[in-house]
This record gives sequence, structure tokens and C-alpha cells, in this order.
Amino acid sequence: MRRENAIAVLCRGHDERHAVVAGLTMHLPEYAPVPEGECDAGCVSTLIDGTRATCELRLPMGRYVGEASWDPERHGVCFPADTPEEQRRRCRWLVGLSLYRAVCDVRGHDSPWGGLSGVRPAKVAAYILRRGCGFQKTQQLLCDVYLLHPDKAALCAEAAVEEMKIAAALRPEDAALYVGIPFCPTVCGYCSFVSRRATPDALSGYCESLHSEISSLGRGLYNAGYRVRALYIGGGTPTVLDADSLEALCSHMRASVDLSACGEFTVEAGRPDTVTTEKLSVLKDAGVGRICINPQTLSDDVLVGIGRRHTADDFRCAFRMARDMADWEINCDLIAGLPGETVDGYLSGLSEIISMLPEQITVHSLALKNASRMTEEGQTLSDRLGRMLTDGEKLLRDAGYRPYYIYRQKFSEGGENVGWMKEHRINAYNILMMEELCSVFAVGAGGVSKILRSGGLDRMTNPKYPDEYCNRIGEIAERKRVLPKPYRGA
Ligand code: SF4
Repeated sequence: MRRENAIAVLCRGHDERHAVVAGLTMHLPEYAPVPEGECDAGCVSTLIDGTRATCELRLPMGRYVGEASWDPERHGVCFPADTPEEQRRRCRWLVGLSLYRAVCDVRGHDSPWGGLSGVRPAKVAAYILRRGCGFQKTQQLLCDVYLLHPDKAALCAEAAVEEMKIAAALRPEDAALYVGIPFCPTVCGYCSFVSRRATPDALSGYCESLHSEISSLGRGLYNAGYRVRALYIGGGTPTVLDADSLEALCSHMRASVDLSACGEFTVEAGRPDTVTTEKLSVLKDAGVGRICINPQTLSDDVLVGIGRRHTADDFRCAFRMARDMADWEINCDLIAGLPGETVDGYLSGLSEIISMLPEQITVHSLALKNASRMTEEGQTLSDRLGRMLTDGEKLLRDAGYRPYYIYRQKFSEGGENVGWMKEHRINAYNILMMEELCSVFAVGAGGVSKILRSGGLDRMTNPKYPDEYCNRIGEIAERKRVLPKPYRGA
């Protein structure tokens, strides 16, 4: 994104500069926050007595002011402010909300997510539910306190209910596993992951290293006393591996890690052009219970434009193959807002996918780089994406799908990803990982293990790139051999 303008940030009465910069980056991405004195435009964020905040934006086109104040009667459930940590939360909320109100003044309209920032909005709803509020009251508070639109408040509250059910059933020793295969047939134009083009040599060297790390992890998990509840093989596109390599990987996994308590085994067969009956048969025999087949769009022109080599028919064919192969759950990913996709095209693709009855549909939205730019339909990007999400949500709900997990893209006002399920066919791994409910151990290049400890998480990070991962596999595997014991609470 080209940032033509800078905006100087000045904080008074608080030290939540990070919250101010995050809010500016999210709501006014065309301005780059800089230290005070480096430019004329400015953002002055002021906190008074810890209970009131103002935000003044001095921009080339004018001066805009937003205010927020804490009222114990109206906001006490969300912000009790009875501990130093709660007071900090309240301070961040006041600072963020006053900035958001000033931004609304600049733009002349509000935004569906209101003043709520952060990548895990369901956590905010879960916090309110845990404080004894009912479902309706929680939605109402999300609208009143964070200024969410009612449809976003409903998404958060519904996802929070599912999160709380999963959390209630967890034991301290429960963990999830992630196996990363960062290779794809081609690299999509919008890809933000590290993904390498798959070649036989690169894949075979990578698998050898991966097996070595899995062996060590199995020993580490066993010695420390973890219980694996969910296993996810993702990427990249794990089904770039041929049938023999997939079989070897799954067998090695079962031989190395105790999966006797693992109730969920997912494999991303993301790119339909990598799916064959032989591979599906291997996955079925390995005990996979859920696969993801991801068209992203059902427009062939859009698929060409984003650099995916397959067609919509490849997806239809892979989906049918998978459905005929086993009684497993199928998830399909779609992206709203792809370049060249019309609102009608997106909704017609979503309708077709709904008619195929996948157990889950995950809707991602492409992060908006310049939401005010006009598209070929004569709408702004945010209008177009907003219609795709709103009308798409109606289609999903009318067909019996319900949201079960949600996360937002960092610093993106419109970027949201929502997992929809039918008949309560939930994907627990996504919730465990996204909401950080248990330790998640990751193997493979780019894998980030997150290990629960008192007051937070410890991260154990693998190198991003497959070459470096393979070169350093000895040391990487060694770290997995001895793991901390599961955190059992204070
Ligand atoms: S399939 Fe996914 S990981 Fe692979 S290139 Fe496309 S977006 Fe990236």
C-alpha cells in the first residue's frame, strides 16, 4: 500500500500509544503514524482521570474530534476497572473508541465492526458472557459499548458460545498438533503465506526432515504428559504430496505420536487440482475425518486472475470424489472480495457450494488496501465486500449454517474470516488454535508452537523457509524432544 501522508501521534495522560497507532493503521490506512513533530497532520489522544478520552485529528481537510467516557452503570459489565489490568483495558477501550468516533467524523459514516479492534472478537463476547450476561444482553452490549452493527455482534456472540463449550470440555494436558506442508502447485496472487512451488526433490527432502521432527515431538509430548485432541495437516497444500508420501506421513505420525485421544484429524486438500481418488483413499485409511477442498471462487476468470491453476469444474469434481470416498466432513473455503469478482458472481458461487452440502464453509474476506477506490461495478471496495458478506451471511443462515469461529485480520477494518457449520459439525482445531485455548504444537517450516504457561503463552518458532528448515532440522527436532509439562493453572 502506498502511504502518501503521515500523521504525528501525541498521547496525553496515558501511555497507550500502541492502541492509537493500531487504531490509525486500521481505520485510516492512508496515513502512516510517525512521532510528533515530523509532519503537520496530527492525532492527539488525551485521557482524563482514566474515565474520559478525546481524540483530535488534524488533517489537511479539517479538524475532527471524537470523545468517549466510562459510565459504571452502562459500561461496568464490560469494564469493571477493579484491578490494574482491568483499568488498562478500560483505558485502551476509551482511547480506541474516541479515535474511532473521530474517524467516523472524517468519513461521514461508521463501520460494521465499530470501535472493536483485535483479531479475536469472540473473546470480547466470551468475556461478557462469563460475567453472567445472557446471549441477547451480550449482543446488546457489543452494540452499545463497542458500537458494532447487530450482525457483527451476533457473529461474535454465537462464536463465543461455541468457544466456551470447547473450553469447558478441555483438560490441562490437552493439546493440538499442526503439521505444515508449505508447498503448492502454483502460488496464488493474494497469498500471504510462505509457500514454495512443489518439486519432487524439494518435497522428498522436506518430508525426511518433517518425519524427524515428528519423531522428536512424539517423544516430547509423551514424556511431558500431553494428550492430543486435534490434529491438522495444513499448508500450503498437503495434497501436493503423492499418495505414497501422504501414506508415509500419516503412518509415521501414528507411529510416533499417541493419537488415541485425538477426536479430530483434518487434512487440507486445498487445491482441487491436487486431489485424486488414490490420495483420498490413503487419507480415508489413515483415519482422516475432515478434509478441506477450497475453490475460493467459482468464477474461472477470477481463478485465472489470481493465479490458481484449477477451474471451478476441478473443484466440483474433487468435491464429488471426496463425497463418494468416505463419510467424512468437508469444509470449503471461499474468499469474498477477490479482484474481478462481482457481488452477483460471488453470491452465485456461494449458493452453489451451499447446495453441495459441505459440513463447513469458511468465508475469508480479502483485506482491503484502499477501501475508497471505485471498482468496475461503480461501488467502493468496501461497499462491494460489505454486500458480499451481508447477503452471503443471509444465504448461509437461511440454509441452516451457523458461525462457530471468527477472526479478523490484523489492522484491517473489513478483513474478517468466519467459519460456518451445519448441524453442529464444528472444527475444534480452528477454535483451539485461534482462541489459544490449549497448547498447540506445530511441526514443519513456519510452524509456531504456542505453549500455555502461567499468564500467557511461550512460542517456539521454526524457520519460515523450507530450505532453512531442512538445513537446521537437527537442532529443531532436538528442541521438541523435551517439552515443558502441561500448565495446570495457578
Ligand atoms: S493455495 Fe493457499 S498457501 Fe498455496 S499459494 Fe494459494 S493461498 Fe498460498
